[in-house]
Amino acid sequence: MAARAGLKAVASIGVRKSVPRVPSQKTINMATQPKPPRGPFDVHITFLGTASAQPSSTRIHSSLALRLGADIWLFDCGEATQSRLQQSTLKMGKIEKIFITHTHGDHIFGVVPLLAGILNGAGGAADGADEPRKAVDPYNPVIEIYGPLGTRAYVRSCLKYTHTFFSHAYVVHELRLPRDPPTGDYTQLPRNQAEAPFGQNIMQVGGVWENIFQDNAVSVSAGPILHSVPCVGYVVTEAPLPGKMDPAKYIPHLKRTNTPMKVMSELQQGQSVELSDGTILHGPQRRRGRKIAILGDTHNPSGIEKLALDVDLLIHEATNAHLPGIDEGTKLDDTYESVEARTKSRGHSTPQMAGAFAKRIRAKQLILNHFSARYAGNDDVDPEAKVLMDAIAGLAAGEYNKEVLCARDLMSVAVAVPPEEI
Ligand SMILES: [Zn+2]
Ligand SMILES: [Zn+2]
Repeated sequence: MAARAGLKAVASIGVRKSVPRVPSQKTINMATQPKPPRGPFDVHITFLGTASAQPSSTRIHSSLALRLGADIWLFDCGEATQSRLQQSTLKMGKIEKIFITHTHGDHIFGVVPLLAGILNGAGGAADGADEPRKAVDPYNPVIEIYGPLGTRAYVRSCLKYTHTFFSHAYVVHELRLPRDPPTGDYTQLPRNQAEAPFGQNIMQVGGVWENIFQDNAVSVSAGPILHSVPCVGYVVTEAPLPGKMDPAKYIPHLKRTNTPMKVMSELQQGQSVELSDGTILHGPQRRRGRKIAILGDTHNPSGIEKLALDVDLLIHEATNAHLPGIDEGTKLDDTYESVEARTKSRGHSTPQMAGAFAKRIRAKQLILNHFSARYAGNDDVDPEAKVLMDAIAGLAAGEYNKEVLCARDLMSVAVAVPPEEI
């Protein structure tokens, strides 16, 4: 489905220039190299996988691509993510970060195959021939992975036991809970040849992980959300953007004082400029950028509530719904209450729970994902599936009091710059 009103593409005027948290290394390190400034960038989200525990013919496991201009960040990477990427217009080589919400298989099974695809991990050497990939420079990672405790050990173990080598390095930063060990890798296996040695163990401060990544255009924070295993949600916040310029306010002053027009670019950045006659021109106030919350599986996301307040877009799971008369799988003795209790007991949410949370954090838009295999993901072509998915969206909208979208695999939405707040 195409983007609906309110989710239209609007170019921002941000310029990203990397200021990563990872400490600088003596050797060249792509992850720590400042990126050259870039021009305006659009923000798009492509849902690659929208299934919960069981994938189906119409939905693969959880995976979502956030495109910031040319860069791609993945949020979760379930089985067959690489295949879905190949079906999309996204370029795998543009993936620079992968954020894992939790280490359940339906959110992480696709990570190692995807890394192998990006980092030249296929093939091997026979009969004692030299394996050139054993000499990869670990200080030069091209992919950064963030996830809870166990993410690093999972990737390391998969590489060890599948005899996989990479031509380029990766790094894993872990978001650790207060009960987690502050050091160590959660595995006895030594670091492999492609794993950068400076993966951080990031402890919570004030119950959250603020600014786990930050450059001059975007920052990422994370908060704990309740599920059957440790799980996090991520909030991506764009830095304030230049305000709208009214040239008529400035140009007469510049002409009168013979000031070069190039100072308009300083004013555009919100700076003040003093003219030759002493007049001081003030650029427009900067405006807030876009803010997006992407949650993992949860039956209670209140741990991320403060970080996610007033997001422009909330992506929230809605694994199970009570749809009597619409869903043939409805049990005779089911009620909304029994379905909600069962859903919560498995660490998940109903559409109503997602809608209520979206309302509570004053989210401007809500998109649901992570659906039971019972809910087919081809509602763009199958009228029966459309009735079902519209009903799920309706249940959430009843709590949220706004339109709600249900994601399907390969659906893309553009996230607009919020209108200027007066
Ligand atoms: Zn899941
Ligand atoms: Zn899960």
